[in-house]
Amino acid sequence: MQDYLKGLNEAQRSAVVETDGPSLVIAGAGSGKTRVLTFRIAHLLSEGVKPYRVLALTFTNKAAKEMKERIGSVVGQHIAGSLWMGTFHSIFARILRYESKHLGYPSSFTIYDSQDSKNLVKSIVKKMKLNEKAYKPGSVLARISAAKNDLVTPVVYARDVNRMTHDKASQMPMIHEIYARYMKECYKSGVMDFDDLLLNTNILFRDFPDVLKKYQDQFDFIMVDEYQDTNYSQYLIIKKLAEKHKNICVVGDDAQSIYSFRGAKIENILNFRNDYPGYKLFKLEQNYRSSQNIVNAANSIIEKNKGQIQKNVFSANDLGNPVRVLKAYSDVEEGFLITNDIFEKRMKEHLEYKDFAILYRTNAQSRVFEEALRKKNLPYKIYGGLSFYQRKEIKDLLAYFRLTINPADQEALKRVINYPARGIGKTTMDKLILAADSSDQSLWNILINPNISQLGINAGTQKKLANFVALIAQFKAQLENLSAYELAAEVASASGIMKDLHNDKSIEGQGRMDNIDELLNGIKDFTDSKQEEGEPAKLVNFLEDVALLTDQDNEKADDINKVTLMTIHSAKGLEFKNVYIVGVEEGLFPGTQSTDSEKNLEEERRLFYVAVTRAESNATISFARSRYKYGELTYSRPSRFIGDIDQAYLDVNPEDFVSNEKPQPSFRKPGLGQANSNLKPRIRMNYTSEAGQSKPKINFNASNTSGLQAGMRVEHERFGQGEVVSIEGVAPNVKATVKFNNAGQKQLLLKFAKLKIL
Ligand code: ATP
Ligand code: MG
Repeated sequence: MQDYLKGLNEAQRSAVVETDGPSLVIAGAGSGKTRVLTFRIAHLLSEGVKPYRVLALTFTNKAAKEMKERIGSVVGQHIAGSLWMGTFHSIFARILRYESKHLGYPSSFTIYDSQDSKNLVKSIVKKMKLNEKAYKPGSVLARISAAKNDLVTPVVYARDVNRMTHDKASQMPMIHEIYARYMKECYKSGVMDFDDLLLNTNILFRDFPDVLKKYQDQFDFIMVDEYQDTNYSQYLIIKKLAEKHKNICVVGDDAQSIYSFRGAKIENILNFRNDYPGYKLFKLEQNYRSSQNIVNAANSIIEKNKGQIQKNVFSANDLGNPVRVLKAYSDVEEGFLITNDIFEKRMKEHLEYKDFAILYRTNAQSRVFEEALRKKNLPYKIYGGLSFYQRKEIKDLLAYFRLTINPADQEALKRVINYPARGIGKTTMDKLILAADSSDQSLWNILINPNISQLGINAGTQKKLANFVALIAQFKAQLENLSAYELAAEVASASGIMKDLHNDKSIEGQGRMDNIDELLNGIKDFTDSKQEEGEPAKLVNFLEDVALLTDQDNEKADDINKVTLMTIHSAKGLEFKNVYIVGVEEGLFPGTQSTDSEKNLEEERRLFYVAVTRAESNATISFARSRYKYGELTYSRPSRFIGDIDQAYLDVNPEDFVSNEKPQPSFRKPGLGQANSNLKPRIRMNYTSEAGQSKPKINFNASNTSGLQAGMRVEHERFGQGEVVSIEGVAPNVKATVKFNNAGQKQLLLKFAKLKIL
């Protein structure tokens, strides 16, 4: 047996070597799905399959890179380097560049990020004179994105009763028209947004059968990781490409489908059997990642969902520690407790920073952890949120790069035509935009049109516009000759950005200058490493990499040995020795909007399952009794999800859930003494599941923000004594119905009513 097959169990090995025909690998977290895919590719290549005949789609660029390295270690890096392997977006962006002429796009099309898209929507809403408060760019774009991922074009959208009714109900009846204009503007500007990369690939394959056939012929073998989170647009691309050879292998776990809010369709994995009758099904049951306690705890969570494919998952690793639950009085204390724990654990167990990850539900939660980590001098890396490439000065320079490559890129042009200031004001821009709109051309075409003199722009300003055009043209002329780094450095300086930042002597100005420096250094590294590998190292190539980054892609090489901070969504597919899942509170996780339907709640629970299954040795869950949300102090109670975990695998202090102590917001600046609150003697609840043994009962769902529960005796300032009948609502608007001895039954909003528990 070849060496690489030895590191696989029997089920995995069959899934690796049986490469003919359609295969579905469906298995729980940590059971080696990604490993199977990696080895399957290595196997194909070592059997002599040409790398360019293999198409492998991953969820992040980083995953693709790691898999390539792994495959390279079996068959040689050079061979692995020629695989068609990457995210859907990066692979199909590549195909679209080759085939752009069919769709009337320039091969140098640029890619809008979500901020560009928002700006474009904003300008369309304004032009259409719609109510800017009703049409929030984020909400409009979410609707457009959903339509694109369902392959619904603007024309079809306007005829779609469901969509139109939904839009009317949400006071945005004109989305279909915004969508139509948005598409037109993008086309005019030679740009695509993320969803367009998939939508346009579908259009390409639908309208140009010869092109489709070419790629069908080329890709003998197709593989997809994380198949449960593909959307319809991705599904259809794959289905078409696999039609000829039908050597398609998809791996996934329905229990980890967490992107339905972005259009992912769990049905894709469930329908595989219909699409490919005669497919082979491989089930992997052994989890190699996590301790037994973690696997068992995770199983007990996902069992609570009704609609799952039945799966056995077991671990033969150590029993390990139970899942630990930590309580904090405030979000700040939570940050302190977790960082303290990381600090101590790392020392005691001789671990490295990279062995720790803090996972949260929403990006906004990262701030307190960042602060706490900084105070303790622990190095960390943070994913998502405001990334390096979204900073103003970086986006400015990138906009120049984009214009250099594609001068029609309208958002880039608007962004820097007057930055650094060169006296091109709003009145001039309005005239140019009007001319562009009325003649259906890009702004750039207006700028280079000799008739620009007829737009009523004064001679001085015309000269400034001409200088700007000459500047961009000068950059463009060097695209082919200069490397990415050489041209980037030239643009940074000749555009005037460097000088402008240099003149700003404030600390912030200095910081911006440093960021530009860092960007240029990054481009230098990119250029050097690409040149070493004999790959193209032009500015176009660099920009493409940046445009296609996902939230999970690491931006900087020096980020290796640091504590990781990321959302649970971004953590999919990853693993860490020690995982902290923070903010596990009602109203946050599950979020308030997720509790209104069973379907949404199940998706949140799957997210919780994903979080727990990232841990190899230790999973810690924390919740805070109070936190600031949107600038307001709110009180919270532990999430129902903690109650989903079988108590046999939990290490929790039951008092944290049933005590009638009041939340103590004064704890926002924790000192050492307060932080010790979690060090109370705790009851270990593992090993207590034998029949007959009584377990402390934890009632997670009935306790309210202040530990109040139905049945408790309370006293009110005015109404006197009474008994709590029921509690409802979500923090901070929790209400209690109390039957008072002398004042009858009242419903009280707890944040105002000062109830004393007796
Ligand atoms: P997820 O559902 O989270 O994406 P997965 O099913 O893709 O997980 P992998 O990431 O492929 O699982 O594997 C989990 C871990 O177990 C990895 O560290 C992997 O190297 C290891 N592993 C998988 N199979 C084996 C095996 N047969 N022998 C040793 N280690 C293995
Ligand atoms: Mg995986």
